[in-house]
Amino acid sequence: LSESEINGEILLQDDINNTTSYQIGKAKACFIILIRNDDLHDFRWTMRQLEDRFNHKYNYPYVFLNDVPFTEEFKKLTSALTKAKTEYGLIPPEHWNIPKDIDMEVVRKNMEQMKLEDVIYGDSIPYRHMCRFETGFFFRHELLDKYDYYWRVEPNVQFYCDIDFDPFMYLKENDIRYSFVISLYEYPKTIPTLWNSVKEFMEKYPDYIEKDNLVDFISNDRGENFNLCHFWSNFEIADLNLWRSEAYMKFFDFLDRKGGFFYERWGDAPVHSIAAALFLKKHQIHFFNEIGYKHEPFMHCPEDASLQLKCHCNPDDSFDFQGYSCTKRFLELKEYWNVTAIKNRG
Ligand code: GDP
Ligand code: MN
Repeated sequence: LSESEINGEILLQDDINNTTSYQIGKAKACFIILIRNDDLHDFRWTMRQLEDRFNHKYNYPYVFLNDVPFTEEFKKLTSALTKAKTEYGLIPPEHWNIPKDIDMEVVRKNMEQMKLEDVIYGDSIPYRHMCRFETGFFFRHELLDKYDYYWRVEPNVQFYCDIDFDPFMYLKENDIRYSFVISLYEYPKTIPTLWNSVKEFMEKYPDYIEKDNLVDFISNDRGENFNLCHFWSNFEIADLNLWRSEAYMKFFDFLDRKGGFFYERWGDAPVHSIAAALFLKKHQIHFFNEIGYKHEPFMHCPEDASLQLKCHCNPDDSFDFQGYSCTKRFLELKEYWNVTAIKNRG
């Protein structure tokens, strides 16, 4: 889309329904859904909520990605839920593969061990592909070339509140590049060597590390150890150019060569979070309190009475201040920085 198209309403042609509709939101942005054909009905339920709570007023396009072709039924039933444009992409095999130098004997042995230890998805190869794709490849898909911002959505998640503003434009106008609604501690058994690899990277490429970073969110000792806090990446509204940056591309390659996506079970959430915490400035990471959301088993529901007027969730069930959440830490750090910044200003 050209700048002039962004300025006005954008005419879109929907090939599936052969209907025409207008993108009203002004950002170069889309929803991204990595999904299986079997997830169709779980996603319709989610998409209905997303449309009702937000997108019927903005008509941001949807980009669905899959490692196998989408069925006609999938396309028909999802495109029918929105006036916005829907696009369906096939993931190129080189973005969903096991690198040649991975020793499959070791992978198999480690998967057996993880199964014995009840590590969630510990013995799943497709789950590893999913995590590696969401970490290092989704933003390279050609259907995303025309966009700057994305909102990741998964089947079965819920949206509880009217979203009367445009989160993409909020990011753009406030120089925010990554946002979340739920944060928590990672299972250490999925990432035994991840932090050592990150430290090695930081020593090798100190120039990529932002001085005004948010390392205190992910570490209690200024980066010596990972405290396992991370943003839950099944919800993300973020800047695609963060992942397309030289720093992140080097970071992903470096981690990928370590083999931990297969030998261990590194998730996209800890890797995205660590990258955001190291490469971004503090103010570039945002907590969207207004967006009530649930991905089983955790929910974010805003407490504020004025926000509750637009929601249908119970704030008592909100995960934010429960023991396993890291959001309290994030908010306290933000508060601390704000107070310090005000003091420093005089
Ligand atoms: P969890 O949230 O960590 O339990 O993982 P999910 O099962 O929700 O998977 C995360 C996302 O990736 C969801 O949107 C799934 O639909 C999608 N996904 C997971 N595995 C596959 C797969 O093998 N192929 C495709 N196309 N999508 C997948
Ligand atoms: Mn999920």
